[in-house]
Amino acid sequence: MHKRQLSRKPKKIAFYSLSTREPIQFGSGWISGVIALSLALLGLGMVLCIKFPSYFTLPELRVHYPLALIRTLLILILSVSFLAALTSLMLRQNKALGVSALGLLILTMLIGGRLAPLNDAVINSYIGLDWYLLNLIVFCLIFIPLERFYALRSKQPIFRPQWRTDLLYFAKNHLAIQTVALLVILPAKLFFGWAVIIPLQSWVQDLWLPVQLIAILLLADFCQYWIHRTLHAVPWLWRVHAIHHSVEAMDWLAGSRLHLLDVLITRGLVYVPVFVLGFSDTVIMVYGVIVAMQATFIHANVRWRFRRLAKLVVTPQFHHWHHSSEKVAIDKNFAVHVPLWDRLFGTYYMPQRWPKEYGIAGPEQVPISIWGQFWYPFNNLLKPKK
Ligand SMILES: [Zn+2]
Ligand SMILES: [Zn+2]
Repeated sequence: MHKRQLSRKPKKIAFYSLSTREPIQFGSGWISGVIALSLALLGLGMVLCIKFPSYFTLPELRVHYPLALIRTLLILILSVSFLAALTSLMLRQNKALGVSALGLLILTMLIGGRLAPLNDAVINSYIGLDWYLLNLIVFCLIFIPLERFYALRSKQPIFRPQWRTDLLYFAKNHLAIQTVALLVILPAKLFFGWAVIIPLQSWVQDLWLPVQLIAILLLADFCQYWIHRTLHAVPWLWRVHAIHHSVEAMDWLAGSRLHLLDVLITRGLVYVPVFVLGFSDTVIMVYGVIVAMQATFIHANVRWRFRRLAKLVVTPQFHHWHHSSEKVAIDKNFAVHVPLWDRLFGTYYMPQRWPKEYGIAGPEQVPISIWGQFWYPFNNLLKPKK
């Protein structure tokens, strides 16, 4: 009797606690719980987008949605979430995942009602919830299986340390896409209008699209190379960029960790020559997709080395070395599209092996929270110098 009481005590705590040491392998109710909670969150996001399109969807995307299909998909997602939540509740001692998923499903039902969209008087949205959800689904579907089957570090879990911080960065980058895009193109439009030469722009736009695409990639990466190198060289700018280098576990989500100023400085300056030369809209759009995919892929936890292609194109191994804390790799591999610029300017580093460790080499201590990281570059400005 006494023994039984002792064994029950920790289980009671585990029932309510959000953190638990209960096993997470198949059959423990953890996977079904994670699926239930993820789908419940997705369902809630979809309902918000359908019910309040003016506030939560981008006008450019809104007009293309097949609503009937999305509603069918929503019912499917909510049903699977409900069944997964029940499975998790039955299998798992700790009910946090299952109960949270059920709570979210009830909230979704309450908000959804008959699902008719409310008044559409507001024309512009300020939160790209649909953009965030679409990107999250696409990236998860591509990269989670890729990192499971071809992992460089197979013991690194999907939910590795600090994944929440990086998911917040991913969310921020996509939810605020309208504002960020506006801030990125604003400096070029405000200060470089004088540099626009119409005949030159017409000549560029008349070039064959693949030629324009190669030109934009080379040019953007040349600018990005020098901006990136400057971010490493100037002490205060390094404090801004150090946030990106504070990642210690590389995966597809890690690339999202960028200080807002880092994004605005790099993308804003890279956009200047793109704006002045007036590349066609199609080319800028394709370039944007390549940037998003390549930037994610080069951080991924995949072991592919692309031996021959790696000489021409930036690969995960090339960028993993940029994130390495090993002394030999400090301030190397600044390019993100083509290693050509690092070869030309003497910063190319690409041994056969992979780095052993990632992160910041020096004694610098970057905070863990997204908020702490936002203030990190400003801390030493506000503190009086000794
Ligand atoms: Zn860097
Ligand atoms: Zn990186």
